[in-house]
Amino acid sequence: MDIYYDKDKLVALRRKLHQYPELSGQEYHTAEMIREYISRHQPDRIIGDLGGTGLAVVYEGKQEGPTVLFRCDLDALPIEEVNAFAYRSQYPGAAHKCGHDGHMTIMSGLSQVISNNRPERGRVVLLYQPSEENGQGAVKVLEDDQFEQIRPDRVFALHNLPGYPPGSVILRKGTFAAASKGMINKLHGKTAHAGEPENGRTPALAMARIVEELTHMPGNLSLNDYALITVIHARLGEIAFGTTPGYAEVMATLRTYSNADMEKLTRQSIATVERHAHDHGLGKEVSWTEEFPATVNDSESVDLIHRVAEETGNQTIFIDEPLRWSEDFSNFTLKYPGALFGLGSGENTPQLHNPDYDFPEEILDQGIRVFYGIYQHLLK
Ligand SMILES: [Zn+2]
Ligand SMILES: [Zn+2]
Repeated sequence: MDIYYDKDKLVALRRKLHQYPELSGQEYHTAEMIREYISRHQPDRIIGDLGGTGLAVVYEGKQEGPTVLFRCDLDALPIEEVNAFAYRSQYPGAAHKCGHDGHMTIMSGLSQVISNNRPERGRVVLLYQPSEENGQGAVKVLEDDQFEQIRPDRVFALHNLPGYPPGSVILRKGTFAAASKGMINKLHGKTAHAGEPENGRTPALAMARIVEELTHMPGNLSLNDYALITVIHARLGEIAFGTTPGYAEVMATLRTYSNADMEKLTRQSIATVERHAHDHGLGKEVSWTEEFPATVNDSESVDLIHRVAEETGNQTIFIDEPLRWSEDFSNFTLKYPGALFGLGSGENTPQLHNPDYDFPEEILDQGIRVFYGIYQHLLK
């Protein structure tokens, strides 16, 4: 496949993005850098402020045809970079540790290739999505009125994957990445003197039982597939030896491979908290955060990526089990057929979210080629 893009400029873009990382929802400068870079490649339209700081770059074909959307993510993480190279993060406590700088760079290279090989039919949308890490961005983009102008027929995204050969394409039909969500439970009792607990209502025992039951719950329910509840935080009263506590918090992360199992686990978790709160005469509040559905890949789209990877000479690896982490691209695959695939970033690189992670530039070309191959099959 003969494709052209300016590699030096692209590497410079990647390093600039890496140097100036912005956290979820605050990707203003990042979006500006992308807009400036992309404008040189004469898209037909750029839709800005999409779901917050997002951008959609549109290239139209001459004939009717499907809308194909490729998505990447803008945000960095609240992690201090420990790398010492020249383009290390300039912002304390923030860095591109999930490789989203690389994803944006692949997409920007793709835009140059497409600008020289415009779609014959339909149109292609390159979506730069904000706030992936906190699970809010995809939903905000989908709910933005401007998304009406996009309405894709097929959606694709990639995520770089440490632990796999550089440039390999990692695939799975059905669930590719797990569903997960954060559960926040607040238990309200009544404080009393530590010497007179009978005059108060302590949440201590309810809290202990909730921690235990939530932890064992996935094994005790008949679920279709793998599930896990991890209690991530718990707090009881204040450090005051004269006081019987009157308040507790238990937070947990629920994780499943299927969206149906997540529904079951959610219902059961709420029932458990309600039962123990009731048994101990406590008020309760249950709320949820960082909700990611499971990313479920459409078979036809996986077959297409497989075919493209063979044509481009990328090694393909089918994984038996879904990945245990979550990706908010799942909100797109819930509504539109498509797929998320992995792009190997090397067997010996640090893991995602490690403080020394750095997106390997050697795989930029392969990412661009696979996306471009998909584009050619669907729009050329
Ligand atoms: Zn991440
Ligand atoms: Zn990521």
